[in-house]
Amino acid sequence: MLYLDNSATTQMLPEVKEAMIPYLLEEFGNPSSKYYNLATKAKEATEDSRKYISALLGCDTDEVIFTSGATESNNMIIKGIADFYGENNKHIVTSKIEHPAVIETCRYLEKKGFTITYLDVDANGLINLEELRKILVHHPPLLVTIMWGNNEIGSLQPIKEISDLCFENNVFFHTDATQTVGKVPCDLSLLEGLQFLSCSAHKFHGPKGIGVSIIKKDKNNLKRKITPLLHGGGQESDYRSGTLPVHNIVGMGIAAKLAHSRIDDNINHLIRLEQYLIDILKENFGEVLHINNNYLSKIPGIISVQFKGINNEMLIKKLSDVVALSSGSACSTSKPSHVLEAIGLDQKAIRSTIRFSLSPYIEIQDLNIFKEM
Ligand code: PMP
Repeated sequence: MLYLDNSATTQMLPEVKEAMIPYLLEEFGNPSSKYYNLATKAKEATEDSRKYISALLGCDTDEVIFTSGATESNNMIIKGIADFYGENNKHIVTSKIEHPAVIETCRYLEKKGFTITYLDVDANGLINLEELRKILVHHPPLLVTIMWGNNEIGSLQPIKEISDLCFENNVFFHTDATQTVGKVPCDLSLLEGLQFLSCSAHKFHGPKGIGVSIIKKDKNNLKRKITPLLHGGGQESDYRSGTLPVHNIVGMGIAAKLAHSRIDDNINHLIRLEQYLIDILKENFGEVLHINNNYLSKIPGIISVQFKGINNEMLIKKLSDVVALSSGSACSTSKPSHVLEAIGLDQKAIRSTIRFSLSPYIEIQDLNIFKEM
């Protein structure tokens, strides 16, 4: 079976598995313990991983806070900021195409008295910078939380411009970068106005159940304060207590190291794969085919396609022995996609849309299965 649902999750690389196994078995020390070898080796492995992740993201090692994944990171950052700073400013700006881990967190805060502005996006899935600028100037929010790249249509937001606007207006900026970390360059050292980022390892061939919150230090190089999500033993600079899952942390570190060293090759390969797949689909389904995300500013390898007149769920089910596809986010498959709605598709178009999300670890000839359909 050909797996083309890499936006939902990815297969762990063999190098990741090999690196993790010792930390699941003999190297079982607690990195917060002291003096004896088992503990110091666990601590060293954790710090090595922090180095690989900070190198991938262009931040300092002590800005990398391990969590269980992007859902937790998004919750931790948005609620942590709202709780710590929300006394005087209860306005948050986000977009209509965020993942439920952001949208539902915002909805929760709405019930607690916050005002949330949900920015529209255009047909290419992009927010309007001028609209954001006006909001920042006339009704400055406490926080802007806008995803770097979208999980259903791959649209890449103008992250540098958003960061600059937030910087100029002295507003916190968080980005959910779950779909972009390890896939497109994400260099925080170039983004002065971005203080917070969330991501998960399993989206770039690492293990599940591990991710990070990046919390940038302030201009005085001091730890930025937010309310911790978990109170306890003080691990992860007191932001997120709990004994660290060293095996998962090691796995995420190796996945980050590999993604970093292969990023250009992976992007080029994904672009070739994508073009090859589109060519086959056009040839075989030309008259019923419509590509929803036929634009340049997108994550390579995510293709959102309408098969007009065909029910997406039925087609995906029918093909499921041969190829793994999805109609959109794995987190909201029962509801019609709010992302496709936001880019202006009607219900008919949404119900005929399929997402192909490719991996750099497949070969071009693997896609030939679509020639026979
Ligand atoms: N944000 C985005 C953009 C995602 O695609 C996902 C995963 N589908 C998440 C957040 C949540 O990640 P996780 O399930 O690993 O917590």
